[in-house]
Amino acid sequence: VFNFSAGPAVLPLPVLEEAQADLLSWKGSGISVMEMSHRGPEFSRIIEEAEADLRALLSIPDNYKVLFLQGGASQQFAAIPLNLSQPGDTVDYLVTGSWSKKAAEEAGKYANVNIVAKGDNKSVPARDSWRLTPGARYVHYCDNETIQGVEFKDAPDVGDAILVADMSSNFCSKPVDVSKYGLIYAGAQKNIGPAGVVVIIVREDLVGNARPETPVTLNFKEMEGSMYNTPPCWSIYVCGLVFKHLLAAGGLPGVKANNDAKAKLVYDAIETSNGFYASPVEPSVRSNMNIPFTIPSSPDAEKAFVSEAAKQNMVQLKGHRSVGGMRASVYNSMPLEGAKTLAAFMQDFASRH
Ligand code: PLP
Repeated sequence: VFNFSAGPAVLPLPVLEEAQADLLSWKGSGISVMEMSHRGPEFSRIIEEAEADLRALLSIPDNYKVLFLQGGASQQFAAIPLNLSQPGDTVDYLVTGSWSKKAAEEAGKYANVNIVAKGDNKSVPARDSWRLTPGARYVHYCDNETIQGVEFKDAPDVGDAILVADMSSNFCSKPVDVSKYGLIYAGAQKNIGPAGVVVIIVREDLVGNARPETPVTLNFKEMEGSMYNTPPCWSIYVCGLVFKHLLAAGGLPGVKANNDAKAKLVYDAIETSNGFYASPVEPSVRSNMNIPFTIPSSPDAEKAFVSEAAKQNMVQLKGHRSVGGMRASVYNSMPLEGAKTLAAFMQDFASRH
């Protein structure tokens, strides 16, 4: 089955097979990763290797901490203002879709949120329309809007401001210059592993300034080493397998080339359909990960598209309930063959309708 789910998403088959082999007895130890002490030597090795491999994949500079925490990306919507700002501070949020909007709303409980610019859910507002606050504690944006399919192709230029990015749905899908960021966070469940862990990459000078009332499990300083309390051991272990898998495949430049090729197949199928399919998103910011599209002439045809595709083993193509239409998510682990099969089906469906 080709699973086009927006998340939780497909994992690499060799990773699932290795996890299956280790499920009952990790490397012949007689116990599962789910059963071992998180402070014992075996799990210490697992989490240390996961961090080292992620550092290698993204070339994370030494002055950044890597945390593997619980609570998903949504919990970081609160943790970030609690750690990086004080009551009364202004924090800047760029809104380009549903997730950056949610992040801004949550931050508004803790700080004065300035909306730098608000997109139309199809594009990124022109840079010269942004109203950045001089002295804002940070500028937050979402690198890939999972629901709308709007993706930044480069880190936005915010001058000297501290840039904070939600990369939940395009993490490890392309090389990223981590040094441009104060903080990057990503829920695991799209590209790197099972739900249950959120990765935080944070510059070390931004750690240690949390408000006194910050819950301990949201406080980056307390959570350094990801061992204040029991970490999501199994999820971290599977993420570690994915990092090794990505490194063995040649790292992120190759991953990006593969993702470019897959996304191009689907966008080309839209563009060459003589208007049968439409992409709502402005071409320069079309996501490589999440591709929403519609059949403007007929909502009934959209329903038929989703159900016929499912019969041909292409599942989870229904669009997000807030957007409608279809959405093909082609994360790292979707094989090229999946995108080819979908593109061929799109052509065939259009010719029959
Ligand atoms: N940010 C983005 C871009 C997402 O796609 C999602 C979930 O799909 C979230 C945040 C929320 O993540 P979580 O469910 O891990 O809280």
